[in-house]
Amino acid sequence: MGTQSAEDFKEIHSLMGMLQNLDVGLVILDREYKIQLWNSFMESHSGLMPYQVRDKSLFEMFSEINEDWFRHKAESVFLLNNRAFTTWEQRPYLFKFKNYRPITGKAEFMYQNATIIPLGSADGRVERIGLIIYDVTDVAVNRVELKAANDELKRLSRTDRLTGLYNRGFWEECLGREFKRCKRTGSVSSMMIFDIDHFKKVNDEYGHPTGDEVIKAAAEALNISLRETDVAGRYGGEEYVVILVNTSAEQAMIYAERLRKLIEQTPVSHLNQTVNYTVSLGIAEINDDIASHEEWIEYADKALYRSKEGGRNQANVYS
Ligand code: GH3
Ligand code: MG
Ligand code: MG
Repeated sequence: MGTQSAEDFKEIHSLMGMLQNLDVGLVILDREYKIQLWNSFMESHSGLMPYQVRDKSLFEMFSEINEDWFRHKAESVFLLNNRAFTTWEQRPYLFKFKNYRPITGKAEFMYQNATIIPLGSADGRVERIGLIIYDVTDVAVNRVELKAANDELKRLSRTDRLTGLYNRGFWEECLGREFKRCKRTGSVSSMMIFDIDHFKKVNDEYGHPTGDEVIKAAAEALNISLRETDVAGRYGGEEYVVILVNTSAEQAMIYAERLRKLIEQTPVSHLNQTVNYTVSLGIAEINDDIASHEEWIEYADKALYRSKEGGRNQANVYS
């Protein structure tokens, strides 16, 4: 070994020492995807010593790596001499390592970003590639939690506190969208509004807290009778609304009657009191005369008014 190469060797050696102790994973693969280098980060997280992985196929050792996908990425690095990246958002990890970090103990595994770099030889051909693995668990967990918090905020801003139904604002947005969809596609949907009968009396006789329980009970009755596609909201104090998607007035009437009877037969018990209550309902099917979703609500409201006038505890279709 000449002086020059001895110097080179020393330099490489100290470089290797540095690479060994980096807080990132470092793996070198040859053209056959056999592992040539495995630093201490990889060793401590995988529990595998360098001698246990050396010259072994990456895919045989780590079945969690999707071979087709990884080869596709790495081949472009080999052929084009370009870097390639993967992020935790695309794939949470490359190597499935347990997450040991105490602050981010919530994550089961280590989220990883990875860079694949070409390692050239003297003649410019890429004969090996380097994999750099970054532990991004902290960032990922923060982001995931932030998203969960945002989703929850969004949900809360759409939801009525007392009943858990959509609030009026969000429900009207939904109706607006359904109105446009029906106009565009010629679908027939109906909307229904209902109101608790003589609710002032309930409050007067049993008190406001029991009144609240009745409001919740009506929402529960509504919830259990809904289909997956129906959209229900609390429109006002003791008024509820439902979009019945792809449902004619006739079908809506069957639904309304079922709900009316369910409520009539389900008294509310609260604070040793039992409250019997009923509701009046109004239905409007969409038609060409209806020019806006607000008008659609007015029609259903008129049908509700007929039910009230007709003696309450009944349903009517707008005509
Ligand atoms: P009708 O059969 O004509 O509907 O008679 P009603 O007594 O139900 O009349 P109305 O709809 O005008 O009365 C609604 C009452 O609901 C008035 C209001 O005090 C009460 N209310 C509104 N919001 C709430 C609420 O969140 N909790 C309780 N307990 N009562 C409420
Ligand atoms: Mg009422
Ligand atoms: Mg009312």
